[in-house]
Amino acid sequence: MPELPEVETIVRGLNSVAGAQIERVDVLDQRLDLPRDKIAGRTIERVERRGKYIVIHLAEGGSLIVHLRMSGRLALICSAAEEKHTRFILHLDNDKKIYFINPRRLGTAEFVQDGFPYELGVEPLSGEFTAEKLHELVASSRAPVKPLLMDQKKIAGLGNIYSSEALWRVKIDPRRKANTLSENEVGRLHRAIRSVLREAIDKMGTTFGYTVSDYKDAYGDYGKFQSMLAVYGRAGEKCPRCGEEIVRIVQAGRSTYFCPGCQK
Ligand SMILES: [Zn+2]
Repeated sequence: MPELPEVETIVRGLNSVAGAQIERVDVLDQRLDLPRDKIAGRTIERVERRGKYIVIHLAEGGSLIVHLRMSGRLALICSAAEEKHTRFILHLDNDKKIYFINPRRLGTAEFVQDGFPYELGVEPLSGEFTAEKLHELVASSRAPVKPLLMDQKKIAGLGNIYSSEALWRVKIDPRRKANTLSENEVGRLHRAIRSVLREAIDKMGTTFGYTVSDYKDAYGDYGKFQSMLAVYGRAGEKCPRCGEEIVRIVQAGRSTYFCPGCQK
């Protein structure tokens, strides 16, 4: 599933069409409830990321809010294989198009007249996400630390991949109760979260495979961070730090990867 770095990479690509006017909207999936008359004729002011949401702000108010879920994408380029999975197309006046490619139809798209309708936690790359803020979040929870990091109402944009990687970097067991982390551990975890996200954005995100469901950026290019992953998706391989075998467990219904040798 696309997380903060993948969504951020797509958003940066889409901002190249800011200022363009939407001439026509083709809605190809009847399950999508999009008011064509409110979108067509409007100018794209800017595209913003909020957590894992993509917000296309339209001039004079209103926005199109897209969540990619497992395998959705917003792209400026659509391959032949992706055509049949395209659920809407925004035709722009600069001859470009924005395609919503949504193979498993789990992604969502909606038009919102005012504001942002979802409650999200702190943005981990913003100035508001300080070590103190993270300390506040973990100190008030007896939940295991990894599902807590993935709670979108606490921290917006972190998912399975980058929470697993951040915990490996600071040698913390993902099953540890959040409120047992020391101040020192919280400080290191805070830095690790920010650095893993920044590095992944620099590498344009993580792509695991090459099917229509795998992540690509707005221009159809794959991410390059997968080769830098220490534990995520690497069950059975050796930990790059201590050589112990990496394991996969399930927490709150989601896969967690970690090294039982050095994450305590
Ligand atoms: Zn290890």
